[in-house]
Amino acid sequence: MSIVAIVGRPNVGKSTLFNRLIQRREAITDAVSGVTRDRHYGKSDWNGKEFSLIDTGGYVVGSDDIFEAEIDKQVELAIDEADAIVFMVDVENGVTGMDQEVAELLRKSRKPYFLAVNKVDSSSRENDAVEFYSLGVEKYYTISSINGSGTGDLLDDLVKVLPDEPEQEEDTLPRFAVVGRPNAGKSSFINALIGEERYIVTDIAGTTRDSIDTKYNRFGFEFNLVDTAGIRKKSKVKEDLEFYSVMRSVRAIEHCDVVILVFDASRGFDGQVQNIFWLAQRNNKGIVILANKWDLIEKDNHSVKEFEKYIKKQCEPFVDVPIVFMSVHTKQRIYKAIETAVEVYKNRSKKVKTSALNDTMLPIIQATPPPQYKGKYVKIKFCTQLPTPYPSFAFFANLPQYVKDPYKRFIENKLRKEFDFTGVPITIYMRKK
Ligand code: GDP
Ligand code: GDP
Repeated sequence: MSIVAIVGRPNVGKSTLFNRLIQRREAITDAVSGVTRDRHYGKSDWNGKEFSLIDTGGYVVGSDDIFEAEIDKQVELAIDEADAIVFMVDVENGVTGMDQEVAELLRKSRKPYFLAVNKVDSSSRENDAVEFYSLGVEKYYTISSINGSGTGDLLDDLVKVLPDEPEQEEDTLPRFAVVGRPNAGKSSFINALIGEERYIVTDIAGTTRDSIDTKYNRFGFEFNLVDTAGIRKKSKVKEDLEFYSVMRSVRAIEHCDVVILVFDASRGFDGQVQNIFWLAQRNNKGIVILANKWDLIEKDNHSVKEFEKYIKKQCEPFVDVPIVFMSVHTKQRIYKAIETAVEVYKNRSKKVKTSALNDTMLPIIQATPPPQYKGKYVKIKFCTQLPTPYPSFAFFANLPQYVKDPYKRFIENKLRKEFDFTGVPITIYMRKK
C-alpha cells in the first residue's frame, strides 16, 4: 500500500488534517476496542485508492519548541519512505523561514509533493494564500482542515500520483515479520536462526524495498521470515527516531500474517514499542511479543510473572497475546519464539465450523444474555465465522444495534476460551436477523 506523509512545522494543522482523513475508517476500530489512542498512522482512501497516512509531526517529541534540525529529519524521512508528501503551511502565519527550508528540501527531492495552505476557512482568506507561490510551486491547494473545504481537490490530485497496487504475489507462504525498535535485537535474532539453520532454501529479495525475506523451515512448517532490520538505508538520519522504525514497520506489518515484535526487556515495553503493537493489532495481524535480552534482567521466581503482568497492562484490552522471554545471546528460547509464531499463525487461520460455533456459543449467550436496552430484550439467534483472512464473526440478533461493546468483549473472551485464538485480534459484528 502507498504511504502518504504529512510534513510541516508545528501548529499548521497536520494532525487536524490527519484525523479528518482517517476518521471514517478508524472510528470503526475504536468502537470495537472501546479505546481511543493517540495515533499518527492510519489508513485512508479516496476515489477507491487506499493509502497509509502518516502524521510525521506526531513523532517529534515536544513539538512546540521543535528545532529546525528535527523538521529537516522529518522531511528527509518522508522523502525516503513515502510515495507522496503533503506539505502543509498556515495562511494565518504566512511564509516562515522554516517553510522555506522544507520547500527547499522537497524541491531537491524527486518525490511528488502537494502544498496545502491550511486554515483557509473562508473565501476571504483565499487571497492571503498567494504569497505561498514564493515557495516555488506551480500550484497550491487552499484547504481548511477544520471544516474540510478544499481537501477533495487536494486528494483528487494526490491519489493520481500514487502507484497502482502490484499484482497479488504468487508466493503464498505465511509471512512472519520481525519488527521492533532499533537495537531490540532483531538482526541478532534472525542471524541466530538462519546461521544455524540448514533448511533455508533461498534468500530472495524482499517484495517491498524495506525488508528482506528468507524462506525458512522449522517444525515441518515453511514460511517467510521478513527482516525489517537487514536493510539500512543510505539516509543520514539517526536511527533511533521512533518515526523511522514505525515507517519501516508499516509495510512489513501490512504484508505479513504474524508480527514478531521484539523488544529490549532491559529497556521496557515503552510507548514506541506499544505503537508498533497497536499497528499490528489494528491491521488484524497475529502477534507474538518477544522480550529479548532476558539475560540482562536480574531475576527471581516471580520475574516472568511480574514482567508479563506489566506488559499485558500496556496491551489492554488485547491481553491474549503470547510473550516469550528470550535471549539471543544465550540462545534461550529462540526456537520457542518461532514455535509460538507458528501457533499464532494457525490460530489466525483457524476456521470454526458453524455447527460447533453455535453449539458452544448459543448456550453461553442464553445463560448470560445481553442486558436489556431501553426495556427491550436482545435475542442472539445464530452465529457464524466470516470468510476473512483473520478471525471475524457475525452474530445475528433481533436488535443488533442494542448490543454494546462490553457484551461484545464478553463474547470475544468466550470465543478465545473455547476455541483458542491466542495472539490474534478478533472482530465481532452484530447483524440483523
Ligand atoms: P500540527 O501541530 O501541525 O499537527 O497542528 P494541529 O493539527 O495540532 O493544529 C494546530 C492548531 O491549529 C489547533 O488549534 C487547530 O485547531 C488549528 N487548526 C488546524 N486546522 C485548522 C483550520 O483549518 N482552520 C483553523 N482556523 N484552525 C485550524
Ligand atoms: P536490531 O537493531 O533490532 O537489529 O538489533 P541488533 O540485533 O543489531 O542488536 C542490538 C544490540 O543488542 C547488539 O549489540 C546485540 O549484540 C545486542 N543483543 C541482541 N540480543 C541480545 C540479547 O539477547 N542479550 C544481550 N545482552 N544483548 C543482545
